[in-house]
Amino acid sequence: MAYQRQPQPQFISKKTCRFCEQRIEEIDYKDVKMLQKYVNSIGKIDQRKRSGNCPKHQRSVSLAIKRARIMALLPFVNR
Ligand SMILES: [Zn+2]
Repeated sequence: MAYQRQPQPQFISKKTCRFCEQRIEEIDYKDVKMLQKYVNSIGKIDQRKRSGNCPKHQRSVSLAIKRARIMALLPFVNR
């Protein structure tokens, strides 16, 4: 199944990092519901542009997603 790109809105309001706002330092890889917000429909990790995270938290989100994949909590690829 081909991944269909969704049309992007012309003006993307600048998002602030959700983890900085809530002062979350470490991201739990067992929190699947939260991590699912940062993967797209085929299971790829969202870019910083899409997720709106700061560099530090984007790195820890991607690390948490990779850990969750190894623990079989998240899929490597959705088909
Ligand atoms: Zn942050």
